[in-house]
Amino acid sequence: MSLQSTAANNGQYEQLIDELSHLHMYTIGRALTNAIVIANGKVSGQHARLIQCTPDSFIFEDLDSKNGSFVNGIRITRKVVDKQDTLRLADSEFTVSQLIALLDSEPAKPATSGLPAEVVSNTFSKPEQNPLDFTRSFADLKQVYEQYPKLRRDCRNREKMIRTGSVIVSSIVSVSAVLSTGGAALPLLHIMSGAGLSVLIPTLCSTLLSTDEKLELIDKEYRERYRCPNPTCRDPFGTREWELLAQQKTCRRCQAIWVH
Ligand SMILES: [Zn+2]
Repeated sequence: MSLQSTAANNGQYEQLIDELSHLHMYTIGRALTNAIVIANGKVSGQHARLIQCTPDSFIFEDLDSKNGSFVNGIRITRKVVDKQDTLRLADSEFTVSQLIALLDSEPAKPATSGLPAEVVSNTFSKPEQNPLDFTRSFADLKQVYEQYPKLRRDCRNREKMIRTGSVIVSSIVSVSAVLSTGGAALPLLHIMSGAGLSVLIPTLCSTLLSTDEKLELIDKEYRERYRCPNPTCRDPFGTREWELLAQQKTCRRCQAIWVH
């Protein structure tokens, strides 16, 4: 069944990607109107903001603050950061995780949208039997390896990215099922994060990020994902071809079974 063959479907995909490409943005500052409020006289009213790109990656941007914004001790205007990076606003220091936790302590919003059950069951991995059997998660890495050069190529052009994103998204979930959630991007991101590099699609379609930032995020996600799936090993595969690894069948380092 070809899902992307008709003009009507193409329109649906573009609508889907447009809805997904609204990234969550959190302003940080002393003023009570910010998403994250820091009660410190040296912090500017509107000091900085965090743009959530994936569940673990953010853009941290200074908003012309008086006393500056810093990442791991270095003053920045705008930088890609991880949850464990240390951010300093004037003389107030937090990890990204701590700042995000300040958001979560606000009145709780519904955590998940009503995604259809079949979408969820199709995308979550089932428990694996033999503790060294990682065949299912290894098979998922084929998509990571194959999508990486496509995403790198197409992220330079938003229109092309929307088409690539449409094909990738349609291979994972039915578009009508996704549209029925009203484009609630973040819960969907978590569900898509198991499938290839699809977690990056909203970021790559977004107009809030530069091409260089998008390339940095693609490389970062690829490096973090394209590894031995055994959580106690996580040996990075780098640029090694997935097909060659599949022929090798097991991890030489941890003996994980990749292919039976
Ligand atoms: Zn291994």
